[in-house]
Amino acid sequence: MNRYERQIRLNVWDQRVIQKTSVLIVGVGGTGCEVSKNLALMGIGKLILVDPDVIELSNLNRQFFYHEQDVGRSKVSVAKERIQILNPEITVEIYQERIQDAPMRLFKEVDIVVGCVDNFLARQYMNSQCVLHDKVLVDSATDGYLGQVQVVIPKNTACLACHSPEPPDETRIVDEPCTFVGIPRRREHCAWKAWYQFHEMHSRDIQEENARDVDHLLEIANNIAREYGYHPFEREEILEMLLHHVPSIISVNALIAATQTQEIIKIIFLLKKKELNSKTSRVLNSLEAKQLFRVPSLTVYAGLTSTYITYDLTPDINCPVCSETVNPPRMITIQASSIEAFREALHKRYGSTNLWISRNEMMIHLSELDNQTGKKILRDGELLSILREEDGHEEKVLIVL
Ligand SMILES: [Zn+2]
Repeated sequence: MNRYERQIRLNVWDQRVIQKTSVLIVGVGGTGCEVSKNLALMGIGKLILVDPDVIELSNLNRQFFYHEQDVGRSKVSVAKERIQILNPEITVEIYQERIQDAPMRLFKEVDIVVGCVDNFLARQYMNSQCVLHDKVLVDSATDGYLGQVQVVIPKNTACLACHSPEPPDETRIVDEPCTFVGIPRRREHCAWKAWYQFHEMHSRDIQEENARDVDHLLEIANNIAREYGYHPFEREEILEMLLHHVPSIISVNALIAATQTQEIIKIIFLLKKKELNSKTSRVLNSLEAKQLFRVPSLTVYAGLTSTYITYDLTPDINCPVCSETVNPPRMITIQASSIEAFREALHKRYGSTNLWISRNEMMIHLSELDNQTGKKILRDGELLSILREEDGHEEKVLIVL
C-alpha cells in the first residue's frame, strides 16, 4: 500500500510528476502553514520555505505548525521539523530571511512560486522576479473574513502590478497590489504609494515609534494627496491605515490556502504536460477541450456571504512591471576592455557588487565572473542584462571594448 494511493486514483493525477516538482513558498504564517501542509502531504518533491519571522503567541490561533513552547523560535525551522514529520519522503529547504534578501537563483530553480505574505514590498518583489524569470506566481492575501488568490502567468494573465477591475466594495484587498503604481484611484492609495516611496528611499521598514519616520511618511503622503486632489492625512489615521495588523482567522486561511493549493496542482500538470503519463495527459486534453479545466487568474472569497467570485484578468499594456511595450528596459553602454574594468564600471553605476549578469540563457553573479566566463560575455557589441539583486532593478547594457 502506497501513502498516495487515494490521490493516485484521481483521473487527473501523476504522482511521479508531483514528486519531481519544486515549489518556493514565501511566508509560513497563517496561509503558508496550510499551503505547506497540503503540498507536503500530497508529496511535492521539494519545498523551499522563506520567512524572516520568529513565532509569536498571537500566531497560535491559526499557524498550527507552531506550539506554545516554540514562541521565539524561527518559523521556517519549526515548520521544516513539523513538515518532515508529516512527510519524511520530501525535501525541505529553508531561508530565515526576507524574500528580497534570499538568493535570487531560487526563482530560477523552482517550478512554481507561492506567495503567502502579508506585506506589500515582498509581494511586489515576488511579482517582479516571477515576471523576470517567467515563473508562475500563485499569490494569496487574507483580511479577516475576506481572502483572494491570484495566479500570475507572466505575459498571459495580469501581474500583481497590472490594474485590476474596480472590485466590489466588500473586497477592498483586491486592488491593494496595484496601488504602488499608476494614478491613485482612492485616497488610501496615496498612503500606500508614500509607504512604498519611504521604503525605496530608506531601504528599511518604517518604525512606528520613530517620530521622524512618521513625519517623513506623512509628508510624502500629503504631497501625493495634494497632487491628486485628496484631502491630507492625519498622523494617527495613516499609521492605522498602514501599520495595523490585519485580523486573521484560521477558517479563511484554510479556505484560501486550499484554493491556492488546488490552483498549484492544476498549474503543475499544465506546466509539465509533456511529462504526464498517457492516461492523465489524455484526460487533461479532453477536459481542456470541453472547457472543464480552468485556472482563473483571480478568485475572491467573502466569508460572511460564502461567496466565491472568479475573474480572468488579462495583462495591462500600461503595466510598469510586465508590459514590454511601454516599459522597454533602458539600455546603456559600458566600455570595458578587461574584467577588472567591467567590474569597476558596474560598481560605479549600480553602487553594488550584488549584481546578476545575464545573456540569453546564461546567468551568473558578478562574484562568479572569471577569465573563462569573462571571455564569453565581454565581447564588442554584446548585449547583456544587469540585475541588481537588492531591488530587482534591471538594465540592458551594451558592451564596447
Ligand atoms: Zn503587470
